[in-house]
Amino acid sequence: MKEATTHHQEINNIDNNLKELREKKAELQINYDNHLKAKDKNKEKKITINADQEAISSHSETRNIFYVEAPPSFSAPSVILDVNNFPTHPCRTQCPECREFVVTETFTSISSVTWLVCFMTAMFGCVAGCCLIPFCVDALKSIIHRCPKCQTKISTIKRL
Ligand SMILES: [Zn+2]
Repeated sequence: MKEATTHHQEINNIDNNLKELREKKAELQINYDNHLKAKDKNKEKKITINADQEAISSHSETRNIFYVEAPPSFSAPSVILDVNNFPTHPCRTQCPECREFVVTETFTSISSVTWLVCFMTAMFGCVAGCCLIPFCVDALKSIIHRCPKCQTKISTIKRL
């Protein structure tokens, strides 16, 4: 019998708490609406979420609630193992010489395409120094990927 009365009291207490929380919720809702009008959406959402959390934890302490962090929005860096498929910027790969996973160093070097464009500009009359322009244009040079640890040339990207 004693247990039954204490249970009853507990239920009454919980009811009272719930009433208070409902009143609080209504208040918060009003606040929330006001803030929405003020266009402060992001901050307000956080406040209402916090209020909800407080409400949940205050009348169900025995329940364990886990909040899982969202995964990062950016994708994990990918390792490119296909030597013929390298991008023009430094990339992650496994060095074929030292078998280490490294981020390659890239640099440009003068290629047959650079010379070809040089001769073509010279043929069209650009002999007063203009034929040297291709040597300054990275788009006309080949790109070499090099291992930063053992300095081995891993891949060369040619323009033609
Ligand atoms: Zn290496």
